[in-house]
Amino acid sequence: MRLDTLLVHAGEPRPRAGGAVTMPIFQSSTFEETEARGYHDIRYARLSNTPSHDALHGKLAALEGAEAALATASGMAAISAALLSNLRAGDEVLAQEGLYGGTHDLMTRDLPRLGIEVRFVPGDDPAAWRKALSPRTRVFYLESMTNPLVRIADLPAAAAFARERELVSIVDNTFATPLSFRPLRHGFDLVAHSATKYLNGHNDLIAGALMGPSARIREAKHLLDHLGGSLDPHACFLLQRGLKTLGVRFRQQCATALQVAQFLDKHRAVARVNHPGLQSHPNHARARELFAHFGAMLSFEPKGGADAAERMFSRLSLPLHAPSLGGPETLVTRPAASSHVGLAPEERARIGISDGLVRVSIGLEAAEDLMEDFDRALAP
Ligand code: PLP
Repeated sequence: MRLDTLLVHAGEPRPRAGGAVTMPIFQSSTFEETEARGYHDIRYARLSNTPSHDALHGKLAALEGAEAALATASGMAAISAALLSNLRAGDEVLAQEGLYGGTHDLMTRDLPRLGIEVRFVPGDDPAAWRKALSPRTRVFYLESMTNPLVRIADLPAAAAFARERELVSIVDNTFATPLSFRPLRHGFDLVAHSATKYLNGHNDLIAGALMGPSARIREAKHLLDHLGGSLDPHACFLLQRGLKTLGVRFRQQCATALQVAQFLDKHRAVARVNHPGLQSHPNHARARELFAHFGAMLSFEPKGGADAAERMFSRLSLPLHAPSLGGPETLVTRPAASSHVGLAPEERARIGISDGLVRVSIGLEAAEDLMEDFDRALAP
C-alpha cells in the first residue's frame, strides 16, 4: 500500500477497539496482570506497551517500512536511546558535522562523560570517514537533511560504508520525513525522528520515534524503560491523529516552500537562499536523485546581515519568531542567535552560518500571503 493509505490505516486495531473508528486514548497507567514474561512486558505505561502505544507503534513502523517502532517522550529521547543502546564505554561514534544542536551537545558534553568519544566528519567525504575510523568505532550517525543549510549528505555511500565496517548506522530523518526519503530502504539500521515536527505537525506536542529491526528496537525499548522517556497515552493519541494527515500537510508545505524559495531568490533585498529545490543549492542534483520532495525548510540571508534580519522579524505579520518546525504556522529563527548560539563564531562561519542567516519552517498558510508578507517585511 502507498504511504498515504498506511498513514490512515496502519496500526489501527481490527476490529476497532469498542467499534470506535478513531483509536481511543487508553488513559491508564497500569493494566490488569496477564502473563508477563518479564519486567519489560508488565503492562505499565512507562514500559510503552499500552494499547495506545501498540497502535501508534504499528503506524510509525509502517511509515518507515520498519519491522518495529518505539514512540518516545521527545526526539532527544529517541536519539539518546538509539545511541546509548548501541554504545558502551571505550566506543567511538562517527558523526556528521552540523547536527541539530541538542544532538551535538549530547555527543560533545554527555557521551564523553560515559567514556564514549565522537569524531565529526563531513557528510559527503568518504575519505574523511575512513581517516576518522578506529577499531573502536561502533556507530555512524547522520541527518538526512541538515539544519539550517538543508544540505544532503552522501546517504547511500554512508549506509554502504557503515555496512562494510559493521557500524550501526543511525539517521535522523526529521527534516526529510519518510515522504521524501526512507533510510531503511537505503540500508541504514535505525531511523530517529523528532515527531514534535512534521510527524505530529501541529506545534502542540513533544514526541519522538525510533524505527528499525525488531531486535534493535527491543534493545532501545529496554533502555528507555529504565531511562523513563516513554510517551504518555494522551500524547500517543495526538501523534497518531497528526500522522494521518502527514501526506497532505507535507506535500503542501513542500510546494509552498519551493515557491517562497524561488521568490526570495529573486528578491533584491536577499543575498542568498538555501533550499534543495533551487538549482543553486550544492545538493540539488542529489536531492533530485534521492528525495521525492525537496522539503519545507529553507534559509536565507537578507542583505544587511543580522540587523536586516531582526528588522524583518519585527515587520513580519504571519511568520512567528520561534524555534521548532514542521507545524501549520510558518516559523522563523536566526540560527546564530538561537540553535547555533553555542558554537564559536569562527565555527559558525566555517560551516556557513552567517549572523544574518534566517531559517524558515514553511507552514500551511497560502504561499501568496507568505510571499507578500516577506516582501513587505524586506522593503527598504
Ligand atoms: N532532530 C532534529 C533535526 C531537530 O530539529 C530536533 C529539535 O529541534 C530534534 C532532533 C530534537 O527533538 P525534540 O525537541 O522533539 O526532542
